Amino acid sequence: MINRAIELVRRSVRPLVFTGAGMSRESGMRTFRGDDGLWKEYRPEQLSSIAGLRSDPGVVWDWYKMRLMTGEGVEPHAGYHALTCLQNEKGELPVITQNVDGLHKLAGQTDVLEIHGSMRTASCLEKCGFSTGLTPELLHGAPTPPVCPSCGAVLRPDIVLFGEPLPPKIISRSYELAEDCDLIIVVGTSVQVWPAAGIPFAALENGAIVIEINPAQTELPQSESVISLRRKAGEILPLLAGLKGKV
Ligand code: NAD
Repeated sequence: MINRAIELVRRSVRPLVFTGAGMSRESGMRTFRGDDGLWKEYRPEQLSSIAGLRSDPGVVWDWYKMRLMTGEGVEPHAGYHALTCLQNEKGELPVITQNVDGLHKLAGQTDVLEIHGSMRTASCLEKCGFSTGLTPELLHGAPTPPVCPSCGAVLRPDIVLFGEPLPPKIISRSYELAEDCDLIIVVGTSVQVWPAAGIPFAALENGAIVIEINPAQTELPQSESVISLRRKAGEILPLLAGLKGKV
């Protein structure tokens, strides 16, 4: 199965990548679902909502500070670097990610569509125009919640919070890419969070092949057009990119 997948990647002329939290698991970022997912301990839907940020910004910021500081020193793993090589080799390989950790860009990838935003920057909740890089180092000394130095309102992480719409331009380009690609590599997503989860289905319905990399079964169907590689991103992506011998 892996050899067929390697060949399909090699031959693809309009490939696309779609990633979720499992893509970053081997870099040390925890997923939401799965055996050691954050939802076993926390209620991210409450902690990550716009209503929560407005009513209790301190609690929401404690959660983001914890996640950012847990992510301190987190680096892209071999699977990320393999994707960067593949992107360089193909010339065009858009990467759509549900992740907010910024690791695709940190690995040197371009044309990255962060459909849920990025926790590496923050901006003024009241939209006065202030925005800033959000590093764990900066947060160590900052008050909770951090406030806008320009107008005094609370800052917000630049991620899409529950209760907010996804960025329309990024979503519409993602769906256009999905409907036009001939191959989509789907990595580390449970394919449960909509509307993002519709992206691989849109590709499938338009005749693309899906190569799925995930140790666990997901919502994707078992079919001729879906190749499910039940292993980790850091093991499989270097193989798909031709960086390691075939197995
Ligand atoms: P999810 O938590 O629902 O699912 C993660 C999937 O990754 C699971 O199916 C799991 O089996 C798989 N997985 C675990 N380890 C893996 C590995 N080493 N290689 C490949 N797959 C692996 O994640 P989701 O589908 O992305 O949806 C959750 C939402 O939470 C997303 O919208 C995302 O924005 C957000 N989130 C982001 C981060 C991050 O930025 N790193 C972390 C947690 C959650």
